[in-house]
Amino acid sequence: MNLPWLDEHKNALHERLEAGRLGHAPLIQGPSGVGKRELARWLAERILCLEPAGREPCGQCRACELMASGSHPDFFGVDVPEDRQSIPVDAIRGLIEKMQLTPSVGTARVGLFMDADAMNRNAANALLKTLEEPAPGAWLVLCSDQPASLPATIRSRCQKLALRPPPPETAEHWLAQISGDVEESRRKAALVLAGGAPLAAHAMLEHGEFERGLAILDTLVEPRSDRRSGKLLEEWQQDAAGTWQWLARWLALIMNRLRGVSSTDLPMADRLPVDLSPECVARLWEQALEGRRAASAGSVRQDLSLGKWLLEWEALMESRSQR
Ligand SMILES: [Zn+2]
Repeated sequence: MNLPWLDEHKNALHERLEAGRLGHAPLIQGPSGVGKRELARWLAERILCLEPAGREPCGQCRACELMASGSHPDFFGVDVPEDRQSIPVDAIRGLIEKMQLTPSVGTARVGLFMDADAMNRNAANALLKTLEEPAPGAWLVLCSDQPASLPATIRSRCQKLALRPPPPETAEHWLAQISGDVEESRRKAALVLAGGAPLAAHAMLEHGEFERGLAILDTLVEPRSDRRSGKLLEEWQQDAAGTWQWLARWLALIMNRLRGVSSTDLPMADRLPVDLSPECVARLWEQALEGRRAASAGSVRQDLSLGKWLLEWEALMESRSQR
């Protein structure tokens, strides 16, 4: 998948690599859906490639072939294990051991963290020493949506590279090419809802997320009749983190509207009420963010918190009609 807005970053990384000035631990940070992982993966391939063709990995050498088949012996991806909520310390110990071995293919080894902020505290501490005294030819490439949750000691030893959403025209053009069968108005709305992050907008359109968000908006604006039966909460609970995310999005849009900010690319936001108390909306928005954090961290029984949240929302809407 070609992401044209990454070109300038690739150029800069290429120049630094060529000049031997690329630090051994780049930290690619930025919001979700702007291409951090794609850039990190590209950088790993570029570092390991034996005969780069200018800026790009050649795609043909032994290293590139091994990367393509997922079996490069000097490449180590560090992810959250399926049965865990964070990257445990033993994963880091394993990585450090492997990073100290002599490379089998070329002269470099790369450890890649797609979600560096998922390291638990012990894991982060274990990584510190490697960051302080890197073995020659050893690279650690880190990605993070939430660099603030990484310990400052880790951040200060990395070379930060901030990815931001591309200009709207670039994002719209890319999205039109990749989701061309989706109506333009939906594409534009998805981009606004995704905060301008093209990959996040694409995922929203591809996986039914967009429709789900609209259904949640319906519920906020017109309370559903099956609300009391618990069916609604059962539905919401199935992807609690996603539900909280949508609640937070819609409430953020209400806050914008209360401040007089709105986007012409998001006509459905006109359905949101504009006569609510800003303090109450802000409080519910914060609760939704908190709920999302808890749900992402694996907290169960989100149906209780979601139910409580919905009651508060309904009371707020009710107070409006009584004014
Ligand atoms: Zn190559």
